[in-house]
Amino acid sequence: MKQIVETLNAQFKGKTPEFVLDWFIKKHKGKIALASSMGAEDQVLTDMIVKIDPSVRIFTLDTGRLFYETYELIERTSLRYKKNIEIYFPSPEDVEKMVTEKGINLFYQSIENRKECCRVRKIEPLKRAFKELDVWICGLRRSQSATRTDNQLVEWDEANGLIKLNPLIDWSEEDVWKYIKENGVPYNPLHDKGFPSIGCQPCTRAIEPGEDIRAGRWWWENPETKECGLHNRKK
Ligand code: SF4
Repeated sequence: MKQIVETLNAQFKGKTPEFVLDWFIKKHKGKIALASSMGAEDQVLTDMIVKIDPSVRIFTLDTGRLFYETYELIERTSLRYKKNIEIYFPSPEDVEKMVTEKGINLFYQSIENRKECCRVRKIEPLKRAFKELDVWICGLRRSQSATRTDNQLVEWDEANGLIKLNPLIDWSEEDVWKYIKENGVPYNPLHDKGFPSIGCQPCTRAIEPGEDIRAGRWWWENPETKECGLHNRKK
C-alpha cells in the first residue's frame, strides 16, 4: 500500500483539488465519502463535491456537544445543496456509561479522559460511517497545526483500512476563504468571532490574533497531543 500511496501522490502533485476529487470520485464511485466536521475546509469540499457529483455521500458527527451554530450550519448546508447530510451519533449506552462513571465534563480532568470522550463520541461513530468505503475525503491542511506538517495528499489510514484523501493539503487559510467568498459557500458564523477551528463547544475557544489556528482546540493540552485520534498519519 505504501507504494500505491507514493505513486498516487506523485501522480497528483500540483493538481487542483477539483481535479483530484474528480479522479477519485469517478474511480471509487459509491465507495467514497466526505467526512465533514462542518469546518471551513469541509464546506469548501462540500461545494466542490456537489458540483462534481451530487450523489457522493457527505456525513458528519453529532457528538451531542456541538455549538448551536454548527447545528444551524448543518441545516443551512443541507438546504443550500438540496442534499441530506448523513448524521452519525455515538452509542447512547457508551455515552451514558462514560459520563455516569467519569462525569459530564470528564475531558477537563485528564488527557486519558479526553481521548476516551473523543473515542466514544467521534471515533466509534466514524468507524460505522466508514463501512463499505474505499476512500474518505478529509479537509486537512498541512499548515493547520504542528500535528499536521507531515500529512500528504493521499494517505493510507491503517486504523480504518482505507485511503484518506486530503484535497486541500497544500491550501493556505487565505485560499480557503477566497474560495468561500467567491462561491458563496455557507460557513459557521463563529469563524467571524475568532474561532478558526470549531469542534465541540466545551473543547473549543476563540483565539487571539497571532495564535496558532488550532490553539483554541483542547487549549489546556500540549500542541503535540491535540488531535482526536482520527488523523494519526500512516502512509
Ligand atoms: Fe468529547 Fe471534547 Fe472530544 Fe467533543 S472534542 S468528543 S466533547 S473530548
